[in-house]
Amino acid sequence: MRQIHPRATEESQRMLPRNLRAAPFREVPDSDWYDWKWQMRHRLNRLEELEQVLELTEAERAGISAQGLFRLDITPYFASLMHPTDPTCPIRRQVIPTDKELLPFPSMMDDSLAEDRHSPVPGLVHRYPDRVLMLVTTQCASYCRYCTRSRIVGDPSETFSAKDFEQQLAYLRRTPQVRDVLLSGGDPLTLAPKVLAGLLSELRAIPHIEIVRIGTRVPVFLPMRITDQLLETLASAHPLWINIHVNHPKEITPEVAEACDRLSRAGIPLGNQSVLLRGVNDDPVVMQKLLRELVRIRVRPYYLYQCDLVHGAGHFRTSVAQGLKIMESLRGHTSGYSIPTYVVDAPGGGGKIPLAPNYLLSQGPDQLVLRNFEGYIAAYAEPEDYTGPDVSVPAEWQRSEPGQKGVYGLLEGEGISIEPAGFRELHRRGAGEHRLNRDPEKWNPLDRQPAEERR
Ligand SMILES: *Cc1c(COP(=O)(O)O)cnc(C)c1O
Repeated sequence: MRQIHPRATEESQRMLPRNLRAAPFREVPDSDWYDWKWQMRHRLNRLEELEQVLELTEAERAGISAQGLFRLDITPYFASLMHPTDPTCPIRRQVIPTDKELLPFPSMMDDSLAEDRHSPVPGLVHRYPDRVLMLVTTQCASYCRYCTRSRIVGDPSETFSAKDFEQQLAYLRRTPQVRDVLLSGGDPLTLAPKVLAGLLSELRAIPHIEIVRIGTRVPVFLPMRITDQLLETLASAHPLWINIHVNHPKEITPEVAEACDRLSRAGIPLGNQSVLLRGVNDDPVVMQKLLRELVRIRVRPYYLYQCDLVHGAGHFRTSVAQGLKIMESLRGHTSGYSIPTYVVDAPGGGGKIPLAPNYLLSQGPDQLVLRNFEGYIAAYAEPEDYTGPDVSVPAEWQRSEPGQKGVYGLLEGEGISIEPAGFRELHRRGAGEHRLNRDPEKWNPLDRQPAEERR
């Protein structure tokens, strides 16, 4: 666990020296400190323990002592990254509750992404046509205060059992359009090693599952968990992809750099998902530094999430305008490799919606008007003779679930509109058949059937 990749960040030329560890841990021998089981057993969660590490503010004290708040647990390793006296520390803000968590806000919900409604079996969220989110545990190494799944995460009584796994796997076996399974939770890398290995091998045995992904913050909260044995388990499930979750450059320690290096060397492509958080990373300079440092440790920024409308996260929310301003500060200014996609996970279960500044200023029949990051405006002439793709496509490459083509289906001419439920009835305004309604082709586009049915 001690070999640092030579090209890791300058800070990562050395491990966190013992004298920089939080006070109660300075005497802990390295053999314990770098043992993930020791870290898990010594997580901080009580006021008295946290008081030994931090000079707590009244707001923090109130948050820590409040009844019924989202679970609190912090690995000693991650706690050592917190500033002991500065309550605005971005590490501290991510994991130490304050009384602001108690404040409701108008659009707040329990399950803002309506995941439970999209679950055919417990813990399996089948929202998109070809991939599923598979929740395998409610436990994490440490708990992020803005957790989107705080309705279940941290609660051992909500966790998933062997029987749930069997149901999840049975659904996957009988659902051949699923080719991508995303393990999450909770944090899948906190599962007992045997349970994780078992799940991965069951998934691998399903022929139509092409890739498996894991969403995990273990490399950030508990980098010592990335042991040789775990790497072996993970590599046995290839093609396996991992997304980690880093929000601030201070989280990229020598330990994290090394954990990521080990994962990369095991052939696992690494991405990062950040959440845009007020007071943590909602500043363009902080975000740019974070993204550059991620690329240096060979982690590709994947998504930047707008904070979800979830209990306890109101004080972390930023405006979408600020998110777009940050995106404006990235494109063109820095490597494309370090630019994530900014997404809003639509409330009510609409799924992820990407947002970006507008680069298309106008469009005529022959020309587009585009602008670049500098404000340079150009006309781009469309080809005059283009009539669509002229390539042969094997029929078996086609894969789409009926009714799932969405807006793309409109471009393919598979219909002329997508209508909200009740749309036709509403717009009829109670009128029956009358002479103007008799020729739907001509007079009433609302009654036109999709091309398929008309034939
Ligand atoms: C985010 C998410 C996925 C994966 O989406 P990608 O855009 O493919 O990364 C799948 N299912 C659910 C429910 C999700 O929230």
